[in-house]
Amino acid sequence: MVGGGLGAYIGGIHRYAARLDNQFELVAGAFDVDAARGHAFAADNFIEADRSYDSFQSMVEGERNRPDRIDAVAICTPNHTHFPIAKAFIEAGIEVICEKPMTTTIEDAIALHDLAKETGRFVGVTYTYSGYPMIHEARAMVSRGDLGKIRVVQVEYPLEWMATGIELQGNQQAAWRTDPKKNGRGGSIGDIGTHAYHLAGFVTGLKAEAIAADLATFVEGRALDDNAHVMIRYEGGARGLLWSSQVAIGQSNGLRLRVFGEKGSLAWHQEAPNELVFTELFGAPKVIKRGRDDLSLETRARTRTPPGHPEGYIEAFSNLYQGFAESIRAKADGREPNASGANVPTSYDGLKGVAFVDAVVDSHEQGGGWLKPKFA
Ligand code: NAD
Repeated sequence: MVGGGLGAYIGGIHRYAARLDNQFELVAGAFDVDAARGHAFAADNFIEADRSYDSFQSMVEGERNRPDRIDAVAICTPNHTHFPIAKAFIEAGIEVICEKPMTTTIEDAIALHDLAKETGRFVGVTYTYSGYPMIHEARAMVSRGDLGKIRVVQVEYPLEWMATGIELQGNQQAAWRTDPKKNGRGGSIGDIGTHAYHLAGFVTGLKAEAIAADLATFVEGRALDDNAHVMIRYEGGARGLLWSSQVAIGQSNGLRLRVFGEKGSLAWHQEAPNELVFTELFGAPKVIKRGRDDLSLETRARTRTPPGHPEGYIEAFSNLYQGFAESIRAKADGREPNASGANVPTSYDGLKGVAFVDAVVDSHEQGGGWLKPKFA
């Protein structure tokens, strides 16, 4: 692991998720930008001292020629560091699990995707919400035509935690997220809008043809957007509306997706993730619950407990890890991944996310006009 040390957020979630299926073991790391703090963290986490590294560069050098070298690295650092870290490990022949957004610039995203293709290295991108079983059920329902032709996609990701200037009050996570050099060009749109955009595309299979965006910065002095509204025209005529906000008071983690077709609609909310609401034309809403035997193979492959025992965020994240493990194994065996490794987010999904942020910021800067994302 690179990053994810003491006081970091997502590294801990990666560690829980990686352990759940016994497919990964944490054996090495450069856990902190401060080497001494990283070593202390490594010792607390039972990492052998000779595999606790001062930096990602020394980790690449230390691991590349070991007979028991790492199979994969998880990159859990701020956005601007993803590209150099991922590139160095790929060039050393190591598979990569990278946080989103994959990079801070479109040039780096293209270069990383190309490098993954050329070298054949696996690059998984942790779009967390595509790990939820009921999201796979939604995708299966759309693809088999239960909703008919899709007309409207509404997706929103509102959060309240940055509703005040906490970046100036010592909040580590908010500090780099509001720094364009570290976060990239898009504030809320890069941080959480990319999740929402990926989720909408993942469930519907639709590709964006054009977007038009309006960004706002409500907290005084903040350098990046903390609220974004984006209209999306999808290929085939469907219309989308995406809202991301870091200033939405009352919203802890309000990711919500609604999809409307000619025959029916679907609704899913991250805070009640075991349920999917399906409504047919003029029908009563039907709640489809996780754990039933008649759900799709992709859904069942991501289900661990019987119906009624709630599963959530950690299990969804571990489903990504299970999928990454299966993808890496299948590649080594020269076969197609099984259902648990089907449709995991990879470098092309990462590239699409960065292209979306770029198009959104360009559109906003040009007065909100329609633009075609470079990759969709
Ligand atoms: P954080 O500030 O909590 O943690 C970052 C960690 O990286 C710290 O331990 C820091 O010391 C370390 N670090 C920084 N530069 C480093 C370097 N060069 N070498 C080694 N370690 C270094 O940040 P966070 O909130 O955990 O976010 C990290 C990444 O995860 C970001 O890209 C963010 O967008 C992403 N993220 C994803 C999700 C998700 O749902 N998938 C959720 C939160 C954050």
